[in-house]
Amino acid sequence: MTRLPSLITEAVASVAGDNAPLHTPEISGNEWEYVKDCLDTEWVSTVGSYVNRFEEALTEITGAKFAIATSSGTSALHACLIVAGVGREDEVIVPALTFVATANAVAYQGATPHFVDCELTTLGIDAAKLDQHLSDTAELTGDGCRNRKTGRSIRALICMHTFGHPCDLDGLKALCDRWRLVLIEDAAESIGSYYKGQHTGNTGVLSALSFNGNKIITTGGGGAVLTNDEDLARRIKHITTTAKTPHAWEFVHDEIGYNYRLPNVNAAIGCAQLEKLPEWLHQKRALAAKYRDVMKELAGISYFDEPAECVSNYWLNVVMLDEDKIELRDVILEALNGAGLMSRPAWTPMHMLEMFGKCPRGDLSTAESVFRRLINIPSSPRLA
Ligand SMILES: *Cc1c(COP(=O)(O)O)cnc(C)c1O
Repeated sequence: MTRLPSLITEAVASVAGDNAPLHTPEISGNEWEYVKDCLDTEWVSTVGSYVNRFEEALTEITGAKFAIATSSGTSALHACLIVAGVGREDEVIVPALTFVATANAVAYQGATPHFVDCELTTLGIDAAKLDQHLSDTAELTGDGCRNRKTGRSIRALICMHTFGHPCDLDGLKALCDRWRLVLIEDAAESIGSYYKGQHTGNTGVLSALSFNGNKIITTGGGGAVLTNDEDLARRIKHITTTAKTPHAWEFVHDEIGYNYRLPNVNAAIGCAQLEKLPEWLHQKRALAAKYRDVMKELAGISYFDEPAECVSNYWLNVVMLDEDKIELRDVILEALNGAGLMSRPAWTPMHMLEMFGKCPRGDLSTAESVFRRLINIPSSPRLA
């Protein structure tokens, strides 16, 4: 019998204690005060000073010129695809290794996700492999990139910063320029993460953030779109607020819009949360360092570190089993969860989900390998 499952459980417990959820929200700042202010002033819904304040704070933290707060990360992604001009006959490049919302948002537009592989150094899209895949299957026409097999246009690429680790933004930006794809960043997991000194979410034409309950910063539920393009920012604001044309009393809407605005109550929570972000990022680095240390002692498993030239927020800590230990993954997950140390495998890759099973795709061997080897371990900032 291998001792690896119990050794890993002991190692994680030595850092995280006896009982630890995967990631819990921390309500330890001005949340009560700001929410009470909303309730006292009756500014509870989609217009209010906290929404504006929250958006301003997001531009300060990320360095993006514009931030538009939305009701979720998924709605933020959907809005990005709409203004990027993605429609029914289009395909969008999506990593196979991502949370389902990335692919769902593409499907909401009636478009088809086209799944591509990740690289082991970042867990994000492998730019070189994708370039080869496009050379094999696509061509550039007067109308942009076209999939020769399906006849559809490949309009955009959504990259994702997995568990907070920035993907190869330079490589993917160059690839998008070459193949004339709109680069969209799913930065739902990467607030506080930097690529070559710049906050993630600034390389794509548009980027989406999430403030769901399990993310570093939560608004209960919520999201935001980041962009440095004023016209796109105006378009995002317009379609996420029912596409109403400004008028003192008349209701005129000039296209089909969405009710995707973040309510003021949620933004109030977000304002308080953002005040704590620097402290939490500091704690998460300390926690990551502890896990790195204890995992060094174990054979058969390794701690996943931030990519070169990047600063990761270490949203969820990642350990990776060696190829020859794959069959132990579920035993290890059972041991960890049995000890009250909430741990999870990676998401089932998108092409393995029934509704996306027939979508076009490249070779996905690395995503499948990562799926079998990766384990997320308890990561709340307070564990540090
Ligand atoms: C959380 C998450 C989303 C969706 O955000 P919601 O706010 O839950 O809608 C999208 N993409 C990724 C990668 C995420 O982790």
